[in-house]
Amino acid sequence: MSPVTSFRKARDLLAAAVCPVSAERLPLADCSGRILAEALVAASDVPPFDRSPFDGYVLRASDSAAASQENPVSLHILEEIPASCVPRYPITEGTASKILTGAPIPEGADAVIPFEKTTFTEKRVTLFAPLKPGTNIVRTGEDIRRGTLLADCGQRIDAGVMGCLAGQNVEAPLVFRRPRVGILSTGSELVELGHDLAPGKIRDTNRYSMAAAVARLGAEPVLFPSVTDQAERIAEVMVQALQQCDALITTGGVSVGDYDLTPAALETIGAEILFRKVDLKPGMACAYGLRKGKMICGLSGNPASSITNFYAVALPAFRRLCGLRDYETHEFPVILADRFGKRSPSNRLLRGFMELGDGTVRMRLSTGQGNAMISGLIGCNIAALIPAGSDAIEAGTVLQGFLLNR
Ligand code: AMP
Ligand code: MG
Repeated sequence: MSPVTSFRKARDLLAAAVCPVSAERLPLADCSGRILAEALVAASDVPPFDRSPFDGYVLRASDSAAASQENPVSLHILEEIPASCVPRYPITEGTASKILTGAPIPEGADAVIPFEKTTFTEKRVTLFAPLKPGTNIVRTGEDIRRGTLLADCGQRIDAGVMGCLAGQNVEAPLVFRRPRVGILSTGSELVELGHDLAPGKIRDTNRYSMAAAVARLGAEPVLFPSVTDQAERIAEVMVQALQQCDALITTGGVSVGDYDLTPAALETIGAEILFRKVDLKPGMACAYGLRKGKMICGLSGNPASSITNFYAVALPAFRRLCGLRDYETHEFPVILADRFGKRSPSNRLLRGFMELGDGTVRMRLSTGQGNAMISGLIGCNIAALIPAGSDAIEAGTVLQGFLLNR
């Protein structure tokens, strides 16, 4: 009998065993969603010059000091400064210039007043209240100061990072390659898409659900045709897949039945077996291994068991493989929104839907919690753990949970 490994220990062991894939330079436009493989330190200030945040008039605050409703101050307009233009005239005592949003502040000026707060003609602008020096001036480097660390190696390129890369004129950032993850279903009962189901046969759903889970992380799933329950054949395809891919996920054949041949295949190919059983249901039986530094995740054939085990055990390792700096699973308290009526002799991972409201995180249960059910995974985005030895769990109970789509 294989020893049972704590799923958290298994998860950490696996994540520690993998390294991020290599990096490549890509045109910036192709980088959204990719993971930075170098730190982004600002080489220049943003904005690059003092500018106006409004359409209005730019002036010397000291000229407005005496302005009031009763005693308005009127200034002579020197010019109009649209965005992209350089001011021609410095602002001197008694003068102002019309300025548009994004245009550079002329020399001598230290305040901008929006149109709405003035009255004006083509030649003169009138103020009715004093302005403090610095009012409505966006300073050079106010958004980004040269030398600031904007994003670290291992950060996913979101809208903010993308904008900052562009702002720093990074034409081709260094990003981690999308790891290629082989996906191989084993089982003599499996039928390929488009073929008729002969009696006793079933559709291979795992290959596609695992592909979706892997793609969601930003990795590239590489799908191999399914293999019948023959250890040598499984071993052969495993070797092929490992030659082409950075990691491999197999499903089926990890229990201890006569046709459970994945562990034997792992031995045949010389993989070091990391663990074969975790303290979690669904997904207790598994066969994780390493070969030449590449991880092989041998998961159960039961659709919910394989995906549950993947989320609970393998997710951080895959996140690390992708290059993510923050790869670990963060657990947090989740309030169970529904009653769960069964006892849980072993740790049980429930799947469901996160509801955020009244300042709490609640989990509504998916109706399909069985280990052979794929339909119960539709739309699930959160999991929560019932500790071993628990009775039925009442609605309102606080469990430890984690996000599936991180
Ligand atoms: P196994 O892990 O090989 O013992 O399979 C457990 C159950 O999952 C059996 O009912 C299999 O028929 C089913 N199964 C195995 N592989 C797949 C697959 N790729 N897609 C859907 N069901 C599967
Ligand atoms: Mg089988």
